[in-house]
Amino acid sequence: MCVSVGLFCTSLNTNLSLLDSTGAMYVTLHTHVSADKEELFQNVLTQVAEQFSRAFKINELKTEVTNRLTMLEKRVELEGMKVVEIEKCRNDIKKLREEMVSRNNSNFLEDNKKLTPRRDVPSYPKYILSQQTIDALKKPAFDVWLWEDNEMLSCLEHMYHDLGLRWLVSCVSMTNYRNNPFHNFRHCFCVTQMMYSMIWLCSLQEKFTQVDILILMTAAVCHDLDHPGFNNTYQINARTELAVRYNDISPLENHHCAVAFQIFSQPDCNIFSNFDPEAFKQIRQGTITLILATDMARHGEILDSFKQKVDNFDYTDEEHITCLKMVLIKCCDISNEVRPMEVAEPWVDCLLEEYFMQVRVYS
Ligand SMILES: [Zn+2]
Repeated sequence: MCVSVGLFCTSLNTNLSLLDSTGAMYVTLHTHVSADKEELFQNVLTQVAEQFSRAFKINELKTEVTNRLTMLEKRVELEGMKVVEIEKCRNDIKKLREEMVSRNNSNFLEDNKKLTPRRDVPSYPKYILSQQTIDALKKPAFDVWLWEDNEMLSCLEHMYHDLGLRWLVSCVSMTNYRNNPFHNFRHCFCVTQMMYSMIWLCSLQEKFTQVDILILMTAAVCHDLDHPGFNNTYQINARTELAVRYNDISPLENHHCAVAFQIFSQPDCNIFSNFDPEAFKQIRQGTITLILATDMARHGEILDSFKQKVDNFDYTDEEHITCLKMVLIKCCDISNEVRPMEVAEPWVDCLLEEYFMQVRVYS
C-alpha cells in the first residue's frame, strides 16, 4: 500500500492524516497539544517512519533481486555459448581428421595406429623399460596417457641416453611443471617424445651434430617450464609480472627459458658441465632460440623464413639448420592431432578447459 502523510499544525491543534494510494483517508488524528496526545502523536510518527523505511527496503531488495536475475541470465547464456563453441571445435577436428584419412597416401598415417605397449613394472631405483616400450617410444603413435609422472621421467631418461646424451633425473622434473589442464608435465613429455620420434623417423642424427640433437631435446623438455596456464595475450592485457618483466615480448617463452637455465645453473643439475664454455654458449643460445620460437605470435614469420629456404635447403648453412630446428619444435609442440585419435582426443578437452579457465578469470 502506498501511504502519504499530511501534517497540519496550528498553534494549538495538530491534524495528522494518513492517505492510501487512492487518496482515501484511513486514519485521521485531531489532537490538542497535551502530554498524552503528544506521546500518541510521537508513536504514530514513529510507525509512519517505520512504514517508510520498510517500503524503501523492499524497493532496494527488488533492485537487488532484478540485478541478480540479470546476472544469472547472462551466465546461463555464456554457458550455452561455451557448449556451442566446444561442439564447433570438435566438428572442425573431426573434419580435419576425415580429410587426413581421405588423403591416406602417407606412410606416416599407416604407421599411425594406436600401439598398446605393456605397462612396465617399476623396479627401484628406476624403471626398466620393456623392449616393446623402447620400440614404441620411437613412434608418433606412442600412447602418452598410459604413464604416471615418474614413468614418463624414466622414458625421458631413456630417450636421452638412447641418443647418447647426458641426463640427470633431478634437473627437469614434473615439479617444474604446474598442474594445468593442458600445459603440464605430460604435455612436456608429449612434445619431447614426438621430437625423439622425429629424430628417428627422419634420421636426423645423420644430418645434425650431437649438439643440435641435445638442443632439440632440451628445448622440447624445457619449452613450457612453469607455465601458469594463462597465455601471452592474458599476460599482456592483465599486465602481469611476467609481461612487465619481459616488456610484452613473448613473456611466457622468455620465462620458460629463464627457469630452464636457472635449473641448469645448479651444480647438481648442470647437464652441460662436460662442455667447454664456447660449446655451452652455443647450446644455451640454441635452446633459447628454439623455446622462443614456440610463441605462436611468431608463427607466420618463422614459416615464411622456412618457405624461402626449403627449395634450396643447405645442411651446411647454420641459418638453414636453425630455421629447421625452429620448425621442428613448433611441429612437435602442436603434434597432438597427428597422434592416433584415442591419444589425441583427450587433449582437446584439456586445451578447452585451460582456455575457459582463463576466460572465467579474465571476465
Ligand atoms: Zn607447449
